[in-house]
This record gives sequence, C-alpha cells and structure tokens, in this order.
Amino acid sequence: MKAIAIKPGVRNSDIIEIDEPQLTAATQVKLKVLEVGICGTDREEVLGGRANAPAHAQHLVIGHEMLGQTVETGAEVSTVSAGDYAVLTVRRGCGECEACKHNRSDMCYTGNYTERGIKALHGYETEFVVDDEQYVIKVPESARSVGVLAEPMSIVQNAIDEANSIQSVRLPLPAHTDTPWVSGKKVLVAGIGAIGLLAVVALRLRGAEVIGVDIVGEGTKRPRLLDELGGTYINARQIKIEDLDEKLGQIDMILEAAGVAQLGFELIDVLGINGIYVMTGIPGEGKPVCIPGGETMSQIVLKNQVILGSVNASTANFETGIKDLEKAKNRWGDLIDGIITKRIKYTDFSEALDLRSADDIKTVICWD
Ligand code: BGC
Repeated sequence: MKAIAIKPGVRNSDIIEIDEPQLTAATQVKLKVLEVGICGTDREEVLGGRANAPAHAQHLVIGHEMLGQTVETGAEVSTVSAGDYAVLTVRRGCGECEACKHNRSDMCYTGNYTERGIKALHGYETEFVVDDEQYVIKVPESARSVGVLAEPMSIVQNAIDEANSIQSVRLPLPAHTDTPWVSGKKVLVAGIGAIGLLAVVALRLRGAEVIGVDIVGEGTKRPRLLDELGGTYINARQIKIEDLDEKLGQIDMILEAAGVAQLGFELIDVLGINGIYVMTGIPGEGKPVCIPGGETMSQIVLKNQVILGSVNASTANFETGIKDLEKAKNRWGDLIDGIITKRIKYTDFSEALDLRSADDIKTVICWD
C-alpha cells in the first residue's frame, strides 16, 4: 500500500510502498484511513526539522491528525465495530513513568514517549493503520465531516482544561460549581489558524468572550469565521501590542496558537490580573527574542499570573473534543466545516505543503 514518508533531517518527502498492516492481537483495530490533516509539525518535518524515524528504519511515515473507518477488530475489542468512524491518538507512553502508567503520556516525565508520525513511530499518511483499542476513539456519524479536526481539537481541550483546573484551584471562587472557570471570562486567542479557531469554538461553547488576534486582512476567511462564531477580530498589523492592553482591558486568559516566539512573549504584556497564559505553538529554531525582561517578570509577579506550556492531549481530551465538534455542528451548522479549506488527493501531497494564502486554514489529505 502507499504511504507518504520522509527521511528525517533533510528536506524531502515521497510516496513509498509499504506492507499493509494486519491485526496481531485480540485488542487491536484496523482502520482504513480516510483523511489526514496537515499542520505546522508536518511542514517542519518535510523541511528537515523535528522528526525521528522508528528504530532501524531510514524513513518515517508522517501524519498524525487522522480520521479513519473501522474495517476489522480483534476478538476483545468492544468500543468500535466494522464501519464505525474513529480517530487514533498520537502519543504512546514510555511505560516507565507515573504519568504514562496512568494513561497520561501527554504528561510523560521521561521524554521517552513516542508519537505516531512524529517521533519514532510511523504515522497515518497511508491507506490502512492498525493500533490497540486503547488509542482508538469513536467518531459519531454526525461529526464525520469534521472528524479529521479531532486531533487539533484535542490540543485545544488540553490547553483550556489545564487553565480551568489551575485557575479554579488557585483563585478564591465559589466551591462546587459545575461551570468552568473560563465561562464569562475575556480570552485572547493569538493566531486564528486551525488551532486558534478551534479554540474559539471551544471557548464560545463554554461561554467565554473571545478576541482573536492575527495579521490577515479583515475581509479574509479567518476573521469572518471568528466573527460568525461570536468573536472579535484585532489585526496586529494595525495596532502595537503595547497598546492592546489599554484597548482590551482585563484579559483573563491568553491562548497562544501562532507559534511565533516574539509575538508569544510580547503578548505577556496584555495579560490581566490573576490571568493565565497558555502557549501551544512550537516554533522551530529562529532569531533570539527581545523582550523587556525586568518589566515582564515584575508584571508576572505583581499580577499573580500563570505562564503555562501545553502539548499533546489525553484520551479524555479527544473525547471532549469530539463532543465539542458535535455541539458546534448543532449550534453553528456547517460553519465549522469552513475550517477545512482544502481537500487534496494523497498523490498531490506536495501541493498541500505549498505556502498558504490568507484564506487557507486547514488542508486535508484524502486517502479514500
Ligand atoms: C501534535 C502533538 C504533538 C506535538 C509534539 C503537535 O503538532 O499535534 O500531538 O505532541 O506536535 O510533537
């Protein structure tokens, strides 16, 4: 069967021929890959950046944002059956640390985890994949058209969940409330690409007021989607970051999804009293960043702020993410389908990597 693979460390990508995987245990599931989303990590891998081939292999099959359809299940599998849509998670635990032993490889302590399509395990840009049932999450028919967004949505869920838990523990709030901390809060989302817009979806579903910051023109697709989701757009080309503070007032949370280090650090200035800042972008190597360190550090201390990094996602984050995709379909109809701006056949993979126009949000590779 066909697969899209790279030789890590150099700029390249190719369609190669590999063996079709077969079930080898009663707990395994075989999926036909339908769609695989492309993100910054894939682009970086193809350019020779962060990626590792499996042990003893020369190449790495890429792709970690997948949607598939179940074709075969082992005798002990109960969560999916043939025909069901499903997604696979990305990270596989190190098996050594407390986090991984408790199925929380997103918090792995040793760093010896692996990731499908990224770190030492082949990914999903291929025709069929097999994995253990514990990594399979069912996608209901109603969310099929946006099911491929489950992985980026899981990243967003992790970031928001962590902010909610930290803030509800450290701030003096009424006890025993079912409402998430973020409800009614003012949140700035930096970068309204796929992750940013999915964050807007999840935040609006939780009752937050959302401001999106990016550098694209007001008339382009991303600000329009933001607007229809009930958010407000700020074009960072038209206002200095240091003036944002005054314009926006108290910002309770910043969710960084731009992956631009200079902007990421400059935005700390905008965070309000008792605020929490969650970074999700992973910039490649770049120029050193220049920030007024003394002022920034004093602000973080004097305003009781939390600066947090969040990577990957737990099984629970995938599950709530898929529920949010369903809720979003109920609330906004096909609006969120608009986050997927291109579907490209796997044979035209190189086109999917081309530098995107302001109107491109998520490109998806089709294997169906
Ligand atoms: C993926 C995560 C992964 C991270 C680090 C991101 O692009 O979405 O699942 O943990 O890269 O490799």
